[in-house]
Amino acid sequence: MRGGMLIISGPSGSGKSSLMSEMLNSMDDIYFSISTTTREKRDGESEGKDYNYISKEEFESDIAEGLFLEWAKVHDNYYGTSLKPILKALNDGKLVLFDIDVQGHKIAREKFGDAITSVFITTPNQKELRERLLKRGTDSAEVIEKRINNAVSEMTRIREYDYVLINDDFEKTLENLTSIAISSRCRVHSINTEEFISSWVS
Ligand code: 5GP
Repeated sequence: MRGGMLIISGPSGSGKSSLMSEMLNSMDDIYFSISTTTREKRDGESEGKDYNYISKEEFESDIAEGLFLEWAKVHDNYYGTSLKPILKALNDGKLVLFDIDVQGHKIAREKFGDAITSVFITTPNQKELRERLLKRGTDSAEVIEKRINNAVSEMTRIREYDYVLINDDFEKTLENLTSIAISSRCRVHSINTEEFISSWVS
């Protein structure tokens, strides 16, 4: 595999989706891993762009068939990463960008080790997260509380990540995230050393 993997995690409302979409527009050879989920589509989202939306039964049958690289239950819904498109993007030499939670990060890390670079993105504090979720207006009060509680438990696992970004200034955070993405492409793991040395000496 010639590509690389960049995993981004963080609470819903941390701004990670907007950051990733800016990065996808500005960088070459980057591929966004579209997850599959059983959660309801939000206003403004579209099938095949934000997620592939399927039923709980279909998801469970895909698990049984081994179609996922990783999957997890988050806020009572299933979310998973399909294996096939990722392998193709990696073989095409792309940097694959994942928006997955802490459980998915752990599984991917166990499978791919150093081939992964990971970033945890969060807000400066809980108050700001609540305000952003309220302002977004896509979730009920009950779902917002669930997301905030989940955020607290995710934050306890920040040390499992390579980098942490506190998103208090969008442009600055985007600059930092882009720098991480660029340097992830220069990791030693991203080249086949034997192939490189034999072509280097010839
Ligand atoms: P949301 O419902 O806000 O789109 O996403 C909820 C959470 O699910 C986020 O933390 C997001 O990173 C995570 N998530 C989205 N797709 C996947 C996936 O394919 N696998 C895992 N493990 N988590 C995911």
